[in-house]
Amino acid sequence: MPTPGEFEIIARYFTRPCEDTRVRVGIGDDAAIVDAAGVLAIAVDMLVAGTHFPADLTPKSVGHRALAVNLSDLAAMGASPRWATLALSLPAADTGWLEAFATGFFDLADRFDVSLIGGDTTRGPLTVTVQIIGDAGSGPLLRSGAMPGDRVFVSGSLGDSAAALGHFATPASERTPEVATLIERFSFPEPRVTLGAALCGLATAAIDVSDGLLADLGHVCEQSGCGAVIDLDSLPLSAALQAISSRDEAETFALGGGDDYELCFTCRAGDADGVRAAAAAAGTPVTEIGFVSEGKGIRAQRGGRDVALEVPGFVHF
Ligand code: ADP
Ligand code: MG
Repeated sequence: MPTPGEFEIIARYFTRPCEDTRVRVGIGDDAAIVDAAGVLAIAVDMLVAGTHFPADLTPKSVGHRALAVNLSDLAAMGASPRWATLALSLPAADTGWLEAFATGFFDLADRFDVSLIGGDTTRGPLTVTVQIIGDAGSGPLLRSGAMPGDRVFVSGSLGDSAAALGHFATPASERTPEVATLIERFSFPEPRVTLGAALCGLATAAIDVSDGLLADLGHVCEQSGCGAVIDLDSLPLSAALQAISSRDEAETFALGGGDDYELCFTCRAGDADGVRAAAAAAGTPVTEIGFVSEGKGIRAQRGGRDVALEVPGFVHF
């Protein structure tokens, strides 16, 4: 097959019939036209090969993650994603790579009824930028709404993706089932879109855990003008993570490691049962890990006693 040009790439891999009647003009004109009809939530995230993901991550995973990290941002606002644009910088027009990338992207897009409505395609170092636009929903979840006495929850389990990063160099055939599970978790994070929407009106604050629990809960505390106390014994750790790490290592991954894309959120103490019921209805496990306190910063406890924390968050620069 001859190397496809820019327009062939767009036509062959990214242009599909759009079933969303709110999309008046999709891919193919100078700009997309959509019927917004209300308050919008908009986010963009750039993934640079070698910086935000290992350069040898499979193209299917790159396609999934590029969209997943954006869906996760909307989930953390309680918003419902609708439309995406995709800016792709590619070192080469590799048809096998493009095919697998598009499969990863559209498999996830289809699950959440997200339409790709535009983008840009250029030659350069591998960089994938997705912009997502969605309906904001009533009572968007902000980082700034937590109050002392609120309970702190996280969805799913923490630390798997950070633990996976140390194992990419291991050839697939030599990975233990636990390592394979962690790598799968890093490669195909599940954005908590349904949970986020279900938390509107119930959670007082929310954030998605992209940089590590301490860093991200720290943002909630800072913007809410309060502190938090977390109980290390209650951190949700997967069986795979516990199988390959000591308790200390697993906690370090859970507290400091990024890339899990779980939601960390707070609610009034009296709404904790309502949160558990909403999460169960959304099909997403959640765990209460602590509470919001007066003051500043995050304290960790074990058995009700403070313990020292020495976990760095993810540093962007
Ligand atoms: P322009 O020169 O007006 O920027 P382009 O030639 O870049 O137009 O793009 C042509 C059409 O294809 C536009 O509708 C644009 O949004 C869309 N497009 C370009 N690249 C992508 C991509 N990677 N994914 C989805 N749509 C894309
Ligand atoms: Mg363009």
